[in-house]
Amino acid sequence: MTIKAVLFDLDDTLYGDFKSCDKLGLMAAGEYLSKEIGIDAKKAADAMNNGRELLRKHCPYEPEMHNRTLFAKWGLEAIGVNPFKYAQNMNDIYWNTVIDNMVIHNGVEKLLTELKNANIPVGICTNMLADVQMKKLCKLGLEDICGILISSEDAGRDKPHAPIFDLACKKLNVSPKQTLMVGDSIKHDIKGALDFNMQAMWLNWKGEAIPELDKPFYVADNFEHAAKQIHTLCDL
Ligand SMILES: [Mg+2]
Repeated sequence: MTIKAVLFDLDDTLYGDFKSCDKLGLMAAGEYLSKEIGIDAKKAADAMNNGRELLRKHCPYEPEMHNRTLFAKWGLEAIGVNPFKYAQNMNDIYWNTVIDNMVIHNGVEKLLTELKNANIPVGICTNMLADVQMKKLCKLGLEDICGILISSEDAGRDKPHAPIFDLACKKLNVSPKQTLMVGDSIKHDIKGALDFNMQAMWLNWKGEAIPELDKPFYVADNFEHAAKQIHTLCDL
């Protein structure tokens, strides 16, 4: 057996697609603010999205840059709207909408169950705040089979930086070189894992060109293809 533990990214790896869910979430938050203060709903949604960009520039790779209350706060401040009464509600409406629109990838439940039954340690290694990721995993029905959640909020730094991979390996009590990281982002999941001396599998469900990296990595066209390869790598 070459792989003794598996880490999965969450967004766009176990479910999809985040971009559509995100758009719907922003629209719903914008509609809420429109009803509250009469602002154009699209303008409010755009402001929240702009808050994301402002925050990203201000604190790149810091976990708080995923906080939707901050997106709303920064975005509303930028258009001269006092955010105090609305930012938290926009966060809640945004996430409820995202969570309601997630579609689990085929084969996720089956593979996670098989890994659990084979006593192979599994973790969810994700750039996001812990509370919302736990809600997502519950909504996807994976809370009892997805292993441990290691969010960048737990680690203090986003992927591709080392602390989150280090924390994940410590929590799972495995060495990096015997751990496989599975994810959809070349930059965060694959390069990050390879730089930490882990093995990596790119979930290329968007059918993008395969980049050349310094170290080899596995490629899967979709989750079921990934599951098939993980079966072999883990001797399931
Ligand atoms: Mg992802």
